[in-house]
Amino acid sequence: MPAKKATKKQQRRTSSSPAPSKAQQPARALKAKAAGKSANATDPARIAEILRRLAAAYPNAECALHHRSAWELLVATILSAQCTDARVNMVTPSLFGKFPTPAAFAQATLPAIEEEIRSTGFYRNKAKSVSGAAKKVVAEFSGKVPDTMDQLLTLPGVARKTGNVVLGVAFQKAEGVVVDTHVLRLSRRLGLTRAEDPKRVEEDLMRMIPRERWISFSHELIQHGRQICIARKPRCVDCPLETLCNAPDKTWSSH
Ligand code: SF4
Repeated sequence: MPAKKATKKQQRRTSSSPAPSKAQQPARALKAKAAGKSANATDPARIAEILRRLAAAYPNAECALHHRSAWELLVATILSAQCTDARVNMVTPSLFGKFPTPAAFAQATLPAIEEEIRSTGFYRNKAKSVSGAAKKVVAEFSGKVPDTMDQLLTLPGVARKTGNVVLGVAFQKAEGVVVDTHVLRLSRRLGLTRAEDPKRVEEDLMRMIPRERWISFSHELIQHGRQICIARKPRCVDCPLETLCNAPDKTWSSH
């Protein structure tokens, strides 16, 4: 059945209703989300509020891997795969003491590197990656870590996550968003993405997060993932994002 046309009286009433002001729109949207209603997880007002609360909760969030140069950060990030940053930080002082430059790593034997990094796990593959990256940095980049994603991705053991860490932390270049295990888990819990593949998660985040927040956002999310939104039992009752979160595995909910 065709929809009834609105009468002139109804049209007059509609057009005379005051439109919500710009200030009212985000407030109303947030109120609805806080109540768990009509949640459009990627609504710009909601994203802005998530970013505001993260920045307030973690004003000093930064990379936890100890390093004194882009090269040391690159090595530490390669070693951090499937390993805690704390463990990597225990290994790198001795490692960089023995091999202080990319040239020293390039000349080192694999067993010598393996011995230093054994406790980080997957040490044979990691030694190959670090050695290969050192050789390439020395041979093709004059001993300096390159500062573009395309060049970084040519180094053995370097994928976008490592590239983004090095570019963001060592060169302050926002070429993408670091998607590690914490960023992936939290982005899904917060409904910012449905993807499971890190590359697609990063694409979703790059679309909705303002570029000037790409670097700090990932540091803040990683810290939030370590302290509050932990993998097995998130501490939702202590979470500053709780009223904005509808994750199915929440351990406590106000709405
Ligand atoms: S409310 Fe719980 S699940 Fe949601 S972000 Fe916070 S800690 Fe994580």
